[in-house]
Amino acid sequence: MTSAPSYLFYQSRNPRPFLDRGEGIYLFDEDGKRYIDGSSGAMVSNIGHSNQRVLAKIKAQMDKATFGYRLHFRTHPSEDLAAKTVAMTPDGLDRVFFVSGGSEAVESAVKLARQYAITQGQGERYKVISRFPSYHGCTLGALDLTGYAPLREPFSPMMRGMPKIGAPATYLDRSNLSEEQLGLKYAELLRDRILEEGPQSVLAFVMEPVGGASTGALVAPDSYYGRVREICDEFGVLLIYDEVMTGAGRTGKFLAAEHWGITPDIVAMSKGFGAGYAPLGAIIAGARLVEPVLDAGGFQHGFTYAGNPLACSAGLAVLEEMEEQKLIENAARMGDVLMAELQTLMDQYPFIGDVRGKGLLTAFEFVADRTTMEPLNPKLNAYDRLVELAYARGLIIYSRRTRGGTAGDHFLVAPPLIITEDQVHELMAILRDALDAFAA
Ligand code: PMP
Repeated sequence: MTSAPSYLFYQSRNPRPFLDRGEGIYLFDEDGKRYIDGSSGAMVSNIGHSNQRVLAKIKAQMDKATFGYRLHFRTHPSEDLAAKTVAMTPDGLDRVFFVSGGSEAVESAVKLARQYAITQGQGERYKVISRFPSYHGCTLGALDLTGYAPLREPFSPMMRGMPKIGAPATYLDRSNLSEEQLGLKYAELLRDRILEEGPQSVLAFVMEPVGGASTGALVAPDSYYGRVREICDEFGVLLIYDEVMTGAGRTGKFLAAEHWGITPDIVAMSKGFGAGYAPLGAIIAGARLVEPVLDAGGFQHGFTYAGNPLACSAGLAVLEEMEEQKLIENAARMGDVLMAELQTLMDQYPFIGDVRGKGLLTAFEFVADRTTMEPLNPKLNAYDRLVELAYARGLIIYSRRTRGGTAGDHFLVAPPLIITEDQVHELMAILRDALDAFAA
């Protein structure tokens, strides 16, 4: 079946088997082979596959109305999902705008920031500082913010080239600073850059609170987060958290921002928010930002499918399930179990140089040398090889070149939040087997 002709084109020709069905943390191909979905797809399937209660709720909405354009009708699914989202989000974030994906969410956040600045008589603010490495999406605007060279470069003449600062990759930092000092050092890069660009021209700073595809679950020292918030406030720069990957419980809190008590000005979400049951995303912001924009004539933005009742009913059912089954608490607990297991890999495999993450967004990175943290020889093609060895054994993990896509290999392990302790051990047994085959 794999060789059946295909009219589709993705990044490359797709050699994968056909998907048959999903159940909990497992996926099955058409030959009946079972895979642990160790990366929840691309960190999407937070409540697992084929959740029957969620499917029943979506079906109930399908039987009533699948589409009503948001400017023609209010709908209960969209109103209820917005209310539930606000209830699960820290105080100060109480207005929601729905979109259908992560890139849309990031660009919507930037456009809201820009329109707010205009209402404040600050139309000269347009620069959005982001970090390197980072991933914020593949549409041209979101790509402009993305610090990932191989994705950006072919399109670079088509974008403005927004300013970037280094992400706090403290595991690569060889200075003798304490964790706290390291956090402050990397936060200061933002202050320096704002001053260099001219504070009156800087609209916003966008960051992934825990790095995703580009950095492999990079967590900054605690001191980083508060200092970044202070620096943004000092210069009137809006702080945008890209929680497309980290949101909806993935890190053991509904928003990763909660780990550090930060209230961003705007949060972008997607992935686990629809959890694979619908293409869905959102931006969440405070009334402080949104009301002036509405007063000035409205948010000049909107996608046709934004807030459609079917996607919103799926999102609402996902959040209800997350709450009823206490999946965010489970993500925190199982994240600890998984992290402890991953750390034991460092004893066994000298080519694993770092293990990191938060909740159920975890990663390990391959290096040639743990002292210098020099990446493993790219000719070994570890990035593809380990993924294939795991896949053959029935485990899906997610890998990318780290360090901005230019060198190194990291592997994200991010199973659905419903995973049990026994299943974490089952996942790890397959991963060890794949690492043994890689080392052989
Ligand atoms: N931001 C982050 C942090 C992401 O991880 C992603 C997707 N990997 C995106 C934005 C873009 O989301 P999408 O692919 O749904 O457009």
